[in-house]
Amino acid sequence: MTELFDSARMADTKYVGRRWEDMDTDVLVKIFKELNMIQLAPVSRVCRSWRMACSDPFIWNTLDLGHLQSNFIQTTAPPYIWVDERSDRRLTRILRMAMALSFGNVTYMIFHFNLYMKDDHLSYISERSPYLRRLVMPAWNRITKVGICQAIRRWENLESLTMPGIPHPPYIMEEISRSCKNFSQLKVMGTFDVNFAFAITVNLPKLKVLSLRCSIITKQALLLILDSMDSLEVLNISHCLLLETLRRPVHSELDQAILNKGSRIREFFHCQSNSCTTCKRMIEDEGLMRWYRYEDWFWRRDEVSSLDLGDYGKLFDENCVNRLTAS
Ligand SMILES: [Zn+2]
Repeated sequence: MTELFDSARMADTKYVGRRWEDMDTDVLVKIFKELNMIQLAPVSRVCRSWRMACSDPFIWNTLDLGHLQSNFIQTTAPPYIWVDERSDRRLTRILRMAMALSFGNVTYMIFHFNLYMKDDHLSYISERSPYLRRLVMPAWNRITKVGICQAIRRWENLESLTMPGIPHPPYIMEEISRSCKNFSQLKVMGTFDVNFAFAITVNLPKLKVLSLRCSIITKQALLLILDSMDSLEVLNISHCLLLETLRRPVHSELDQAILNKGSRIREFFHCQSNSCTTCKRMIEDEGLMRWYRYEDWFWRRDEVSSLDLGDYGKLFDENCVNRLTAS
């Protein structure tokens, strides 16, 4: 912050007698980067130069909505959740604000594991953020096959996706293979069986990074990945529950054969330990991690540095959540 005030002071000194709208864009961007999107909205309406500065890629590169959750109840039939209308309206409002301010400059987007958007929301995002390179969307119960495929087709630059462990994954891998030529990084949060592994080996043979941390994985799926993915440079199976098969839920260990195959990968992260807190939580939750029971940051971690989400972004901070909840 000191650096920021110094920059602003320097700018003031430099531009004595000049108008606010003539301030150096770099200085404006540096100041505006400290604001959240609700604070940015009125600032963007001051004048044209401030409007331009408020949309700068330096501010909007990462849109982290990780604080935003849907109000929902679980149901017994698909999509297994019911989301209240207020949540949908709130999400629509936030996305409209973010997309209008960012002017297509978002390349990295993060959503909470309890944020359930609809096809309309996803379509709106993909239209207005066509240059997306990285998407973290751990839940898509309400998004249809058509909805996700349409979005992927628009995101030709997509390189990295974090997604839930859906039951029938081939269509999504096929669409990525067709549309996203630079795709290299996948993280799956949930269940990873041999069908999922097969869909990856067939459609994404050049994948470089795969993280399955805190998922249920079958031994057959793991072996298929280890035997078939020659381009894989990083594999993370830390804190996973390894099962013989999904139909026969017998816990398995990482035997020497698996460790030998894994050692051929440049970075092979694994952890199955009685003294590991995360492993203990996985066992207590019977393999389907109940992220909401734990620390706010817990779901954002990954042993693979390029997949770790780090701290929450400033554009949508806790003050935004409070303002929106109160309104
Ligand atoms: Zn562990």
